[in-house]
Amino acid sequence: MATVIDFSAAFPKAADIKAAGHAGVVAYISPARETWMKAKPITKSVVDAYRSAGLKIATVWQYGGASNPDAMRGAAGGKADALAADAALTNAGLTGHPLYFAVDFDITLQQWNNTAVKYFKAACDVLGRQRVGIYGHSRAVAWAQEDGVVADIGGGRCLGWVTHSWSQGETGSGYAALYQGTHNVPGPSGVQVDVNTVYDNYPFTAQTTKETTVDVSALPHVDQTLWLNKHYTTGRGGQAIKYIVRHHNAGMLTTQGCWDVWQSREASAHYQVEQSGRIGQLVRDTDTAWHAANLLRNQQSIGIEHANSAGPDQDWPISDATITAGGKLAAELCLKHGLGRPEFGVNIRDHKETGSTACPYHLASGGKYHAAWMKAAQDHYDTILQEDDMFTDEDRALLRQIRDNTADCRSMLMALSAQNMGDPAIGGPFGGWPHDQIMATVREKIAAGKELTNTEQLHVILDKLGFYDKEN
Ligand SMILES: [Zn+2]
Repeated sequence: MATVIDFSAAFPKAADIKAAGHAGVVAYISPARETWMKAKPITKSVVDAYRSAGLKIATVWQYGGASNPDAMRGAAGGKADALAADAALTNAGLTGHPLYFAVDFDITLQQWNNTAVKYFKAACDVLGRQRVGIYGHSRAVAWAQEDGVVADIGGGRCLGWVTHSWSQGETGSGYAALYQGTHNVPGPSGVQVDVNTVYDNYPFTAQTTKETTVDVSALPHVDQTLWLNKHYTTGRGGQAIKYIVRHHNAGMLTTQGCWDVWQSREASAHYQVEQSGRIGQLVRDTDTAWHAANLLRNQQSIGIEHANSAGPDQDWPISDATITAGGKLAAELCLKHGLGRPEFGVNIRDHKETGSTACPYHLASGGKYHAAWMKAAQDHYDTILQEDDMFTDEDRALLRQIRDNTADCRSMLMALSAQNMGDPAIGGPFGGWPHDQIMATVREKIAAGKELTNTEQLHVILDKLGFYDKEN
C-alpha cells in the first residue's frame, strides 16, 4: 500500500520524498508551538513544490501539546481552530481541503463524551462535516465515526487517521483512511518523520464543501436513456462511487448500438458519448456496470464509453464533440457525487489500469486526446462553480428557502423575470424565452469576468431554482 510521511522539524525536499517512494505528505497547517518546529505550518511555496513533483498533500491541525490538548477546549476551541485552519489552508493554496484535527493523547471515553466531541461538532459547523477528520488512537477514531463528527468517505470508512500509540495493535484498517504505524525514524533529506499507510485516497482530494446552490439532482445532462436489461448488477455491493473510468468503443456506436452489443456480450457501461457529443445512459449510477474487468473497481466507479469517429484504418480517432462532451459529463458526475474537481489518477482513471487492454487508447493518460478531455472536464467543473460564486452565503440561504418551499416567492420571481424580459406575453411565463442562449452568454461573461445584466442574473437565479429542469 502507498505510504505518506509527516514531519515537524523541517520540510524534506520533494525530490527526496519521491526518491524514497512515498506518495505524499501529511503536513501541519497549525502554527508552531516551539521554535524547532520549522515545518509548521506548510507554506504555499512548499505546497507548490510538492504538487509540481506529483506528491499528494493532506493536512493536520495540532497546536497544543500533551499538557493542553486542542480538543479539550470543547466547542469554543473547535470553532476557533476550524476558523484558523480554514484561513491557513487558503494561505497555503489549499482552499477547501479537508484536514485532520489531532487528538494526540490517550483520551478516555469520558473525556471524549464530555468535551472532545463538542470540539469536533463545532469544527463541523464551521467547515462542513465532509472536511473534518480526526487523528487519534483507534478508539477515538471509532468514537468520532459513531458520533458522526468526521467525514464519511464511503465504503464504511471515515476520515480517520489512526496512530499506533495507545491503539493496542488495532490499525483501523477496516474503517480509517490512514494508519501511522512508524514513529520518528530518519526520513528523506535527513528529516525525522513518521510513516503512514494509506487506506484511501480521500484525504488528498480537495472537496467541494463551500456552500453551493448547484442543483446536483439535475446533473448530469443526458440526451437519451436506454436502460439495459442484463449484464450489469443492481446496487454497488455497499461501495461508494469514487471515480470515473474512461473507455473508447473501438467502434462507431450509438447508444442503441451499445445496447445491442451488450445484449450478447457480458459487458456494460453507465454512459455512451456518441460521435455528435450526444449522451446516452444505459445503467443507473446507483448500479454496477461491468466495464473495468475488476469487481471492486466496477463497484466504485462510473464507466463512460466514447464512440470513435472512424475505424482501425484511421487508428480509431475520436471527434472533438465527443471529447468535449465526455469531459463535461465527467465533470457533472464529479460534482453530483462529490468527487471533487476532475483530476487524473484521483477521480478520473483509465480502463487499461485493469485488464489486458489498450482502452481508452488515444484518450488514455499520455494519449493524444487526454489533455483536451481533461481540460474540458476541469473547465466545465470550474464554470459550474463560478456561476455559483456570484452568490453570498446570505443569498444562498435565501435561495434555498425559496427553492425548498415558497410557492409565492417562485411566482414573484417569475413575474419579475417576465418584466425584465420586456414582454411578459411571449408564449406564457417560460415559453419563448431563449434561456439556453442567455445562459450561454452568462457563462462567457463570467469566464471573462464581466458583469451580468439584471435579466441575466435573474436567469441564473431561475436556473438554480430549477425552473428550467426537464419536468417544468
Ligand atoms: Zn474499455
